[in-house]
Amino acid sequence: MDARNSPPCSVNRTGAGLHIGIAASSLAPTAPNPDTPAASVAQERRITGTHVYSFAKCAHLAALDLHLPRSERRAPHPWEEFAAKRGRDFEDDYVAKLDAVQPEYPERDFEAGAAATRELLARGVELVHQAVLHRDDRLGLPDLLRRREGRSDLGEHHYEVLDVKTSGQTRGDQILQVVFYTQLLAELQGRMPAEGAIILKDGREERFAIADYEAACDEVVAELRRLRDEPGRSRPFLQMACSTCYHDQRCLPQLRERGDLSLVHGMSHGARAILEQSGCTSVEDLATFHPDGPRARGNLDATLVRRLRRSAQVTLLGKPLVEARPRAERLDRAALVHLLTDPYADRVLAFGLLHPASEDGEFSFALPESHSDEWRAFRELTAGLPQRTPLLHFGEALHRWHEQHAFSREADPSLEARFVDLQKRLKAAAIYPAPVALLADFVRHGLGRDPHRAGHVGAAAMWLDEPDAEERLVRKLHSDLLDLAALKREILDASAGALPEREAQA
Ligand code: SF4
Repeated sequence: MDARNSPPCSVNRTGAGLHIGIAASSLAPTAPNPDTPAASVAQERRITGTHVYSFAKCAHLAALDLHLPRSERRAPHPWEEFAAKRGRDFEDDYVAKLDAVQPEYPERDFEAGAAATRELLARGVELVHQAVLHRDDRLGLPDLLRRREGRSDLGEHHYEVLDVKTSGQTRGDQILQVVFYTQLLAELQGRMPAEGAIILKDGREERFAIADYEAACDEVVAELRRLRDEPGRSRPFLQMACSTCYHDQRCLPQLRERGDLSLVHGMSHGARAILEQSGCTSVEDLATFHPDGPRARGNLDATLVRRLRRSAQVTLLGKPLVEARPRAERLDRAALVHLLTDPYADRVLAFGLLHPASEDGEFSFALPESHSDEWRAFRELTAGLPQRTPLLHFGEALHRWHEQHAFSREADPSLEARFVDLQKRLKAAAIYPAPVALLADFVRHGLGRDPHRAGHVGAAAMWLDEPDAEERLVRKLHSDLLDLAALKREILDASAGALPEREAQA
């Protein structure tokens, strides 16, 4: 993860526990953030498992969720609703197969819900679905509580927490949520369960020791209380999470209006905080920032300051600045490969090919009918390419997919050796007028095009339910491949050829 994408609080799962790093710049602005709403709503707000989960993504997101009613969020996009519904359906289907009991109480009366839950636990029912755990200012609604043997205040038994997730592997934010629920449960039953668990989308149960994560959870809850009680303590930072956040229409205009330093390619939370303390508080300031010595630049590395100043100038210019790399490998005889996936179902929905890798190259595609058909589809699509043709692709998806499938098949090892990831090369070949991470960022800031003109990549799985699914998938594949070809020409080839007029223009 590059500095730009490092979240304000990083949640890293290590061998035995989580490391929580909370960036000072996102939580303690030099002046209160005037755009964070007053504390009136928040003072009565309970800390919930959802806040714990949001905090790991973005501290400002957790703060806004604590301070604003739901009506202040933007409406979800159809594909976001589609993904959320799949998550709910998965949980419902999973729980329907179990003999779980749900506490009954009037809607949103959590006191009554907590009392009904306590009664079920004292009775010793095997599984409780959507229990209500309520203590002081904390409220938890875990997916499942499961009975275990061993004495507690409830009798000769106690409970542990299970959460149902649609991901393929556990993440730190999901574990923190389970630990938050477990701490509430421990106070209720007078015993801390040794473990908690997450049920993954393939039905596997991933167990972990609660003791490994308790300190991290305490730290997050303490910070959430501070965010709730001190409006203005957090502030937005442009990061990858913003692209899927329901507060984007609030944060992004604020960032642009202020000329926030996080709009600059390569900025980190730490660098923003130091630059602001040194009196450099906007993109315009940074574009002309020439500090006298190490103290004047807050002891930031001189090369870093030079690089960020150049990025700020490019941000003001509004166009990418291609950096000459005459020794960079030219990829004239390459093909472009792209894929559209359904991450929930672990499936490739479509493979596309553009050969040669230019906008007038020949486009072909394959739509595998099932997971087991993917290998055949990919092999047939690429079979006609001349041997040793480099296969240009964007990001880790193709490599990861190939690795999974090649393992169980007689895969030709030389094929994987031909993969060339354009993401890293594009990043190194230019300075962009805004931070870039996803293909959509490169298209928007590298080419000035709308990356979603043939639809949003997140909607691909949703299209399968529509009569023109094939047409949509093919249109999106083709449009992404044309964007990749244009990025190759405009950024990579220009960088390798070091066009003089381009340099002069810059
Ligand atoms: S839009 Fe970005 S900065 Fe704002 S709350 Fe969401 S993730 Fe955080």
